[in-house]
This record gives sequence, C-alpha cells and structure tokens, in this order.
Amino acid sequence: MNMQDFDTRCIVSGQLESRPNHGTVNPIYPATTYEYIDQNANVYPRYFNTPNQAWLNEKIATLEGAAAALTFGSGMAAISTSLMAFLAPGDHVIVQNSIYGGTTNFINKIFHKYGIEFTVTDGRDLEDFARTLQENTRMVYIETPSNPLLAITDIRAIAGFARSHQLISMIDNTFASPVNQTPYTMGIDVVLHSATKYLGGHSDICAGFAVGSQEHIDQIWSYAKCFGGSLNAQTCHLLERSMKTLGVRVRKQNQNAMAIASFLENHPKVERVFYPGLVRHPGHEVAVRQMSGFGGMVSFELRSMEDPFAFQQRLRVITPTLSLGGVESTICSPFTTSHDYLSKAERLNQGIRDELLRLSVGIESEKDLVTDIAEALQ
Ligand SMILES: *Cc1c(COP(=O)(O)O)cnc(C)c1O
Repeated sequence: MNMQDFDTRCIVSGQLESRPNHGTVNPIYPATTYEYIDQNANVYPRYFNTPNQAWLNEKIATLEGAAAALTFGSGMAAISTSLMAFLAPGDHVIVQNSIYGGTTNFINKIFHKYGIEFTVTDGRDLEDFARTLQENTRMVYIETPSNPLLAITDIRAIAGFARSHQLISMIDNTFASPVNQTPYTMGIDVVLHSATKYLGGHSDICAGFAVGSQEHIDQIWSYAKCFGGSLNAQTCHLLERSMKTLGVRVRKQNQNAMAIASFLENHPKVERVFYPGLVRHPGHEVAVRQMSGFGGMVSFELRSMEDPFAFQQRLRVITPTLSLGGVESTICSPFTTSHDYLSKAERLNQGIRDELLRLSVGIESEKDLVTDIAEALQ
C-alpha cells in the first residue's frame, strides 16, 4: 500500500467517501440504537462501533500506522481497560519508573487488590528492564518522553526485549503524539493515548485511545464492552476535527519548544533544562533515532533562590494550569500538581525538585513566548 504523508492522513483517514447531502465533513450520529435486521453487527455506543466512534478508530489507527484502535472516554479508561485485558492474578508486569501519576495510582491500587505482581525498574536502560524479568512476567509498560523529566526510553530495544520473552509491550505515547513517534511501527504491541492532550489539542476534550493489531484490539474490546468507558458522538466529532490539524499544531509546538529550551539553557537564573532536543540531554541520541520531532513539553529548574510561584504569576502569555497539550502555553509546578501524591522523599528520589517547572508549549509566536519568559525571569 502506498502510505500517504502524515498531514494527508490527518485529513482523509476515517472520512466518509460518499457524504450525506454532499457536506465536506462527517456528520454526527447521536443515535444510541440502530436497526439490526440484515446488519452484521449490533451497533451501540458501549460496543465502541457507532459511526463517529468507528471513523475515529480508523483515524488514530492510520496515524499510528497500526491495524486497529478503540476510542475511550478518557486516557485512563484506555489505559486501565488495556492493562486488565491482558493481565490475570499471578502475572507479573515490568513497569518503567516515573510514568503518569494516574497510571501509577491505578497500578498501586488495582494490581495489589487483584493479585497482579509488578516491579518498577530503577533505570531506563534495557539492562534495568531485563534484571526484573521473572518466570511469570507477562507485560512490559513504558512511557517516553516521561512526565515531567522528559527522560527517554529506547522503544525499539524494549519492543525487541518483549518479543524475545513473549511479553505484551505497551507504551503511553501521549507526550510525543504520533506526529513525533509511532511506537507500533517500532514493534510495540499496544499504543495508548490520553487524547485529552495533543490529539484534542484545545483543552476542551477528555478522551483516550488504544491502538494495535486487530488481535490485540479485539482482546481489549472484549473487556472495554464490560468496563464501559466509551465516548459520546458529539465529543468524537470534536476530536475528529481537532485531529485534522494535529500535524501543523504539533510541529509548531516542537519548533517553539526547541527555541524556548535553547533560550533557557543559556539563562543565568535557570539551573537545569530537560528537553530531549538538547544535545546535552542524556537521552538525546536515542531520541534522534526514534523521534521525528522532540515535542512541546519543556521542563526546567530555577536557581533555588528564585520563587517558582512568583515566576509563574509574572508570566503574561503563559498561564499556570494543570493539564497540557493545548494550543495555549501553560505551566505548572509538578510537586504541587501532577506529583503531589508522592512524598517529598519519593519525588526527590525520582529527581523532581520543588524548583522544577513543567511548561507545555503552545502555538503562539516564538518571540512572544521567549519574551514572556525572559521578562518574568528578570
Ligand atoms: C493525562 C495523561 C493521562 C491520563 O489521561 P486522562 O485523559 O486524563 O484520563 C495518561 N498519560 C499521560 C502521559 C497523560 O499526560
């Protein structure tokens, strides 16, 4: 098959060929019930197969270069359903350290309760993963770039390790988005997304995706119908519209983030910058191999005498808010937001200091963003 370029796939994938009433965009089908005689499927929102869900499933699968996908009502619905679809009591999971807080919380709460064992790796090299392998290991779970320190895990190395030990491999690809990295094409079995972030892109949608082979997605689907975390037609349509601009948005965010990271790297009031696009970043070489852009997230530490909250309040273009991935630039202190569920000692153990700031770079002008930061640092 002749694979179209990414930006073309953003527009045409999942698009109806014969358009009702000749409109240019897919319609919204709010119906929860469909005629069943002579149809070969029972269509119902919680079966994840209404027209708006099906078009979106096709769009994200095409963008990730995979065979199949499911659209969920949140990123955590996609993640929790996918984990439970493959795990049983007595199984063991290798979990990369420093992953999304909600996923860590799910693992701590639910795995313990249902007798699923897990080991959190103490590094991100292949040896750190291999060392934790057990006889009952069934799955390996990674997230790269990681939140909030933008650490990089070698996707191909982990996929190869999983294959050679018959483990299911899963990745949370939220931070990179399929614009910058398509892990399924590098051998990962299941790719997960919080579409609330870059795929939605406008800070007004909560949704999630699981992407993979038809066989793996069928397995997840059989659990998804039980757990019921589906997405309504109206929000599916909004998300479909957002994803048409995914390529242009994220490439602009990559470009702005690179400019800001370079500016911060040379600023005397900044202690450290975490951005995989910087040559000094320890994961830079791996990032160059597996990413086509370095993403819109930049983390940095102010010198300890600078007050991180006063700095955030002096910003005029960038807004201090919790989430990320929108067209507007936002910033937060991970220690009081995404990582406040950890004790200070646990945070420090992961390298998350109180001086750390996590910036989600939007699509405003590069000059205005750099000026905003420069003035707030003064
Ligand atoms: C936000 C986020 C999630 C959870 O997604 P929700 O849509 O909030 O459920 C999972 N992983 C990462 C990396 C995230 O940033």
